Amino acid sequence: MLTLMRKLLLLSLMAGLGSAACDYDLVIRNGHVIDAANRRDGRMDVAIANRKIAKVAERIAVEAGCRSVDATGLFVTPGLIDIHAHVYANTGIPKELAGETSFVPDAVGPRSGVTTIVDAGTSGWKNFEDFKMRIIDRSQTRVLAFINIAGLGMTGSKNEQNTADMDAAGLALIAKKYKDIVVGVKTAHYGAPDWIAVDRAVEAGKLAGIPVMVDFGSSHRQARPIETLLMEKLRPGDIYTHLYSGLRNEQLSTGKMNPVLWEARKRGILFDLGHGNGSFFWTVAMAAFQEGFLPNTISTDLHLRSWMDGMKDINNVMSKFLSNGVALKDVVRMTTLEPAKAIRRLELGTLSVGAEADVAVLRLERGKFGYLDNRRQRVMGNQRLTTELTLRAGKAIYDLNGVAADEWKPGTLPGERMK
Ligand SMILES: [Zn+2]
Repeated sequence: MLTLMRKLLLLSLMAGLGSAACDYDLVIRNGHVIDAANRRDGRMDVAIANRKIAKVAERIAVEAGCRSVDATGLFVTPGLIDIHAHVYANTGIPKELAGETSFVPDAVGPRSGVTTIVDAGTSGWKNFEDFKMRIIDRSQTRVLAFINIAGLGMTGSKNEQNTADMDAAGLALIAKKYKDIVVGVKTAHYGAPDWIAVDRAVEAGKLAGIPVMVDFGSSHRQARPIETLLMEKLRPGDIYTHLYSGLRNEQLSTGKMNPVLWEARKRGILFDLGHGNGSFFWTVAMAAFQEGFLPNTISTDLHLRSWMDGMKDINNVMSKFLSNGVALKDVVRMTTLEPAKAIRRLELGTLSVGAEADVAVLRLERGKFGYLDNRRQRVMGNQRLTTELTLRAGKAIYDLNGVAADEWKPGTLPGERMK
């Protein structure tokens, strides 16, 4: 018994609990903080206690932290939010997004500073609970979800076309039952020339009081033009993803971006990048950069094929924007505050005192880097963002160079407990 108590005492001391010597569990010092929600953009220290942001100030004494991280030369941002990813893995379904081509969130998110992954409709309202059980409840990365209006989600292209299974009331029921996790409705990959998928998704969004994200199929269709979608079908706050695909008349044959994008933005439609492996082409992106039409949110459309292609990860996608003249503070805003707003979770994407301590520590390298689009055409860039450290609720879930770790001490015994 005594041994157990001693062990517990020792463990609590090691975890810094009950120690009067320091006020905070961790202080990240000397980093350049970019926190759009609080208009912070400069050198500051960040203190974390009890899994939450405790203080952000110009100077926090090093001894105030039980541990400290020296972030000199690095950028400290809220944990990134990837608003479009596919993480309904482990279903055993071959070659489908709700299966083999999805990622386990913890395998990818932490390594690129992402602490919140939003699944973009990989599960439908019929199999959402299976997704929750297999993945959401078991991940350290926070996983939220848009639910597909197609009942079985992305389990096969036939299922995604099955209008008999597109039940707005059924989806709304699930969305309300799991309102902590479900942030929106998704429709995607719909091939027919009618509006059934979009109409049902918007109906579900109205019933549940949540936004809709639209992947508008893989080609332009005369019967359902993008103008009608953006100006009539979608509501302010709804999200158009795959902005730089160019496949659905986002770009006109003159090379200019379709002016309806600007008009739709005026009425409150949000635009998401959704890079993927068929939705980012330099021809479109360069025209958009030139005209200044940037997405509201930068996201990956993460899945196995995009990860192996030009997308790679969210840091690589952010770097494409940096290398083409978009400021780091804007790129960070588009991966923190803006996605938080789009999914209406303003408690995320911020370093406000009291927020859960989800933090990314990023390195900006300068040099010569190549960036591929989905045709595997390359554009050279001069900046590359990488992730040094990711904290989820104050805990280091990725630490590339051990900036939050202790040095190895010769003589450490095998089995000796790590701090
Ligand atoms: Zn997608």
